[in-house]
Amino acid sequence: MRGFNTDCLHLTNEEKDIKHYGAISFPIYQTATYEHEGVGKSTGFDYSRLQNPTRERLEKTVAVLEGGVDALALSSGMAAISLLMEIFCPGDHIISEGDLYGGSIRLFDNVSKKNGLEFSFIDCSRENVEEYIRENTRAIYIETPTNPMMRIADIEKISQIAKKPGLILIVDNTFLSPYFQNPLKLGADVVVHSGTKFLSGHNDTLAGFLVTNDIEISEKLRFLIKTTGAGLSPFDSWLVLRGIKTLGIRMERAEKNARELAKWLKGQKIVERVYYPGLEEHRGYEIIKKQARGFGSMITFDVKSQEQVFAILEKVRIISFAESLGGVETLITYPITQTHADVPQDVREKNGITDRTLRLSVGIENVEDLIGELASIFEGM
Ligand SMILES: *Cc1c(COP(=O)(O)O)cnc(C)c1O
Repeated sequence: MRGFNTDCLHLTNEEKDIKHYGAISFPIYQTATYEHEGVGKSTGFDYSRLQNPTRERLEKTVAVLEGGVDALALSSGMAAISLLMEIFCPGDHIISEGDLYGGSIRLFDNVSKKNGLEFSFIDCSRENVEEYIRENTRAIYIETPTNPMMRIADIEKISQIAKKPGLILIVDNTFLSPYFQNPLKLGADVVVHSGTKFLSGHNDTLAGFLVTNDIEISEKLRFLIKTTGAGLSPFDSWLVLRGIKTLGIRMERAEKNARELAKWLKGQKIVERVYYPGLEEHRGYEIIKKQARGFGSMITFDVKSQEQVFAILEKVRIISFAESLGGVETLITYPITQTHADVPQDVREKNGITDRTLRLSVGIENVEDLIGELASIFEGM
C-alpha cells in the first residue's frame, strides 16, 4: 500500500487511463458538453452535470483517500448533505448527533422535516444510540469531533449498533479530514465532507463530498447528482485537487500549532474552559486516540465574559474574525452569531454553546505569532 501523501499527488496507474498530453497539473476541462463520433459512441463523457474529467479526477482522489468505492464532488458541503437526504423517504427516521455544524441542523429542521423525515437529536458521545432505534429508523448521522463542542463519538461502536437493523451510518469527517480519520474503515457507510475546509485548505473555494463504500448507495447518489445537478464545477474541482496536494503537510503543521495553542490557552486566567480532544483531560481523548491518527486543529474555548469576547474579536489582526475553518490562515469564530446563529437557543444551551464561547481554526502560521497576538490581547483583561 502506498503512503497517504503519495495518494494526494498521484492516482494509481489503472486510474490514470487518459493521457492529457502529459500535463502534471491536471487540466481544467471547462466544457459543458462533449462531441460524439456517432450514435451510441461516447468518450465516456456526455454532459458535465453527469460528469466532467476534472471533477472525476478529484472524485477518484478523494475516494482513494477515504478508502471508498466512490466519491461525489458537490458545489458545497451543504449541497452534499442535501443530496444525501434525498435517498430517504417521507416517514423515515434518522438518529442524529445534536451538536452538529449549524447549517446541518438548519437543513434537518427546516427542509428535511418539511419533506417528512423525522429526527432524534442526541449526544452520541454519552447516550446509548441503540435506545433511540425505532421501526422506521434508517440512518445514524454523526460528526466527530462535533462542531463546535468537540464531542467525540465512538465510530466503530456505533457502526456495530447500526449493522444489525441495517441502518446507514453517516459520518461528517470535515474536522479531521481523511489525513487523520477514515470512518469507512471503522464501519461507516457514508462519509460527508465540507471540501471548503481542510481538503481545499486555502479559504478560497466552496466544495462538498459524499464518499461511500457501498455500491448500492453509490448508484443512488449518482442518479441523484445527475438529476438534481449540484456537481462541483471544473475550476473549483481543480482548486480542490491543488489543495489536496498539500493536505498531509498542512494537517501536520496546523495540528502541531493547535496542540501548543490549546495548552497555552489552558493556562490563561481569562480562559474558563478549553475544548480540544488532544488534551488528556478531554472526555473523548482515549476514543479519538483509538480511532484517529491525530487530534486536528480546531479548538473551542470559553472566556469569562461577553465583553472579553467582543474585545478579542475586535483586536485580532493576524488571526481573522471570520466564519469557516480548515484553511492555512487562522480564523476565530463566534458560534452564537455566526455558524450556529440558527440553532435554537435551548439546543445551543444544552450543548454548552454560550455567549462566551469562541472557536479557533488554527492555521499554519508560526505559532509564536499566534500566541503572541492573543497574549497581548489578553493582557490586562
Ligand atoms: C462547513 C461545514 C459544513 C458545510 O459545508 P459548506 O461547504 O460550508 O457548505 C458541514 N459540516 C461541517 C462539519 C462543516 O464545518
